[in-house]
Amino acid sequence: MKYKKLTGIVVRSIDYLESDKLLTILSFEQGAVTIKAKSVRKKGAKLAYCAQQFFCGDFECIESHGKLIMTGGSRVYDYSDIANDLDKYYYACHFTDIALASIMEEHPDVEMLRLLLNALYLLTKDGVNLELLASIYEMRTAVLAGFAPVMDECVLCGSSDKAMLFSIEHGGIVCCAGGIAVDRHITRFFKTLSECDMKEGFSLQVPKESLKALHLISLEYLETAMDRKFSTLDSINIF
Ligand SMILES: [Zn+2]
Repeated sequence: MKYKKLTGIVVRSIDYLESDKLLTILSFEQGAVTIKAKSVRKKGAKLAYCAQQFFCGDFECIESHGKLIMTGGSRVYDYSDIANDLDKYYYACHFTDIALASIMEEHPDVEMLRLLLNALYLLTKDGVNLELLASIYEMRTAVLAGFAPVMDECVLCGSSDKAMLFSIEHGGIVCCAGGIAVDRHITRFFKTLSECDMKEGFSLQVPKESLKALHLISLEYLETAMDRKFSTLDSINIF
């Protein structure tokens, strides 16, 4: 048996057997890991709070036959408020879905995990613009994954004068192919997010009228880059 301490966040927590939970944790040390939390669904269980979705902190574990079992935990940051607001909850699930698709087992990705934790932190704040935060998070994820869009010149012919359409297919602005019309705010937003540090990225703003187009493009761009759909936010429209 080996002792292990991991720092990270619970992104999935599912009931297992009679009173256990299986936790998917994104950790700084090991990337995505599964940890068994024994008896945490029993009344008065001491470690129940560490087994909740979005619990962020240190996890003490023992490793036995290649499986991790939680023996202790302590909170580093409290994101539990997110679950009190349904829209924020769906955005948090959207963010963690994207992080889960980006961070693999045994492949820690410190930058991506920091991006997730910062986005969740901003979600807990009053008056946060959810669509803007999502666009920042989605585009920045694409950049971290190596898919920064080409924004200085036409991706296809290199002309820098008239390229004002954004092509998701070609990964940047174009003049000689079809694309989505983007204004200078969106162009600047994508360009800055590809080059700036994370703090500056999270403080980016666009005018209200550019926001809808921005969010449509950033989500589809990320989905195309990662070759998968992220449909959690579709659920919001049901209510
Ligand atoms: Zn061109």
